[in-house]
Amino acid sequence: ETSPLKYKRVLLKLSGEALMGPGQFGIDIPTVEQFAKAIAGARTAGAEICLVIGGGNIFRGMAGAAKGMERAQADSMGMLATVMNALAMQSVLESQGVPTRVQSAINMDQICEPYIRRRAQRHMEKGRVVIFAAGIGNPFFTTDTGAALRCIEMNCDALLKGTQVDGVYTADPKLDSTATRYEKVAYQELLAKDLRVMDSSAVSLMRDNNVPIVVFSLKEEGSLLNVLHGRGTSTTIS
Ligand code: UDP
Repeated sequence: ETSPLKYKRVLLKLSGEALMGPGQFGIDIPTVEQFAKAIAGARTAGAEICLVIGGGNIFRGMAGAAKGMERAQADSMGMLATVMNALAMQSVLESQGVPTRVQSAINMDQICEPYIRRRAQRHMEKGRVVIFAAGIGNPFFTTDTGAALRCIEMNCDALLKGTQVDGVYTADPKLDSTATRYEKVAYQELLAKDLRVMDSSAVSLMRDNNVPIVVFSLKEEGSLLNVLHGRGTSTTIS
């Protein structure tokens, strides 16, 4: 297909939980393979893609803190979890012939590159999929904020937030059958109504830099390509 892309350079945010697939914990490789296939297809269509993957399928800082760990220490474990997910995605993408680089906000030179903004930009220009690991490298933040920051640093046209539902609803559609989906919603309304699709710090960063967030469903076949072409079901926050 040759129609022009609405968004040429994008950051795709996947939660760690998305990688669990049908499981309750960890990394389900067939599920990662499905995501990788979609990413490869988007790249073939001409998109420049970078990724941020969460760590909630392995460890969340808040969960550790709830059990008595020091929060900052638990957050370090959460950041390490995101590195594991990044390495899994890198392996699977490369097995599908997609060139990739992992850049971590916490230096781990033996297993991936350190985060260097200008080098990451160069990778993207060369058509490599850059996977940003370890969030922003600081405790008390989440990978949503990491995604927003890297999205802006990479001069992306949009942040694509892949979720279990096909957009932002007036209420949780699983709990409220009268909930309706927004086609578009303003950053400010999202924040004011406390519609929790992303952390408020991530949304504020996107608002301040005027880059749209597109919330779409990972469950539908072809949804990533649809979003890139500006079609299909989703919600645009702008
Ligand atoms: N984390 C952090 N700083 C960051 C990004 C992540 O401390 O900049 C930690 C935090 O403990 C978080 C965990 O890493 O709970 C996993 O990330 P997140 O909860 O955002 O993953 P997701 O919900 O997307 O799976």
